[in-house]
Amino acid sequence: MTSPSLTDGTEAEPAPESDHESALVTARRQLERAAAHVDVDPGVVERLKHPTRVQQVTVPLEREDGTVEVFTGYRAQHDDVRGPYKGGLRYHPEVTAEECVGLSMWMTWKCAVMDLPFGGGKGGIAVDPKSLTDDETERLTRRFAEELRDVVGPTKDVPAPDMGTDAQTMAWFMDAYSMQQGETVPGVVTGKPPVIGGSYGREAAPGRSTAIATREAIDYHGGELQNATIAIQGFGSVGANAARLLEEWGGTVVAVSDVNGAIYDPDGLETHEIPTHEEEPEAVLEHDAPETLSNEAVLELDVDVVIPAAVGNVITADNADAIEADIVVEGANGPTTFAADTVLDERGVTVIPDILANAGGVTVSYFEWLQDINRRKWSLERVNEELETHMLDAWADVREQVELGGLTWRDAAYVVALSRIAEAKSIRGLWP
Ligand code: NAD
Repeated sequence: MTSPSLTDGTEAEPAPESDHESALVTARRQLERAAAHVDVDPGVVERLKHPTRVQQVTVPLEREDGTVEVFTGYRAQHDDVRGPYKGGLRYHPEVTAEECVGLSMWMTWKCAVMDLPFGGGKGGIAVDPKSLTDDETERLTRRFAEELRDVVGPTKDVPAPDMGTDAQTMAWFMDAYSMQQGETVPGVVTGKPPVIGGSYGREAAPGRSTAIATREAIDYHGGELQNATIAIQGFGSVGANAARLLEEWGGTVVAVSDVNGAIYDPDGLETHEIPTHEEEPEAVLEHDAPETLSNEAVLELDVDVVIPAAVGNVITADNADAIEADIVVEGANGPTTFAADTVLDERGVTVIPDILANAGGVTVSYFEWLQDINRRKWSLERVNEELETHMLDAWADVREQVELGGLTWRDAAYVVALSRIAEAKSIRGLWP
């Protein structure tokens, strides 16, 4: 696969297939691909193959029945040459140190391509969050925050929600950290509820950036959004927000899906009328539409743009030949496997990579952190305007590499990221 897969919602990833690889293998391979195009000291590349630190902690939890269960938590910190580590905390039974390291590297590239003053981090607890009561989740989170207290903080490492965690989890984490510090420290995490320092527009941001990337990609290929047809897999935070914005901007969203299947209307769907995953889980098929399709068929529709926005590894060696769209915009993380990427490139299908397309989430997290450390709230209008500016700047930087080096958009995005990190390392120098 071309980027590690991770789901910020609670959906399970599909079972591994033959052309899938681990997050760490992907992150290292992508680093080496980018290094081939950048004048970078091999020592820097070698250094970037390894995390700065991986903190492993034991998190005991008293269950409701009085018994004590012990869980293992991790925080991988990849690189902080450009600023504090940034990345999610996930609660999932399959969380491992190695996965956290791979995903933390991937966050380093994502922050750098967006030119955010952050490096990559990722962590979590190996636990099934569905097996916990709300009180247990709160106690587990508070204890985890205490165990990580020495390595996190607004200037050190700033976690965010991820798979199995949400705004409430971040509120408990922030409260536990603040109680121990003896002062309120909202900037220790992002993705909080707005009332305690969260940012307006954070939740919708990955979908908004995906929509912006789609609009720009259509424009780059000489088309017009007003004449474009779009199919979207996944109608959750990313998919639904992208769908609704693209429709508002004049695009024709002909198909959307959730885990149960898709609805299709060649004349365009009214996406505001279709309940999102959060509004009413898995209710897409209940909406009236001329046709229903399978989830897989959505990706193969003859449209201008297809947006996989559900889970990872959905465009593989098995279906890459069947993709009819001219442009794939990766709303989800890691929806295209490495093998599929090669096929799409050979077939002339443009793939806008996840580290650019869905980076609105971490970008608005950066805005949230700015608001927290400055104790100053931004309006939703300001958040959306600044996001637009950041996206267009990153888009222009990546486009320049596409045009200069004849690179794919994915390779170009990694080249932009690595160039920034390498330059920062070279200017700061290596502590001998
Ligand atoms: P979500 O839980 O809000 O929604 C997921 C949607 O995908 C739902 O409609 C669900 O029914 C559907 N779905 C689940 N499994 C499916 C499957 N096997 N096939 C087809 N559809 C399926 O999730 P989200 O937050 O929108 O995240 C979607 C993707 O975007 C993930 O890859 C996630 O990592 C990525 N992402 C999310 C954020 C964020 O902040 N929400 C940020 C960046 C990237």
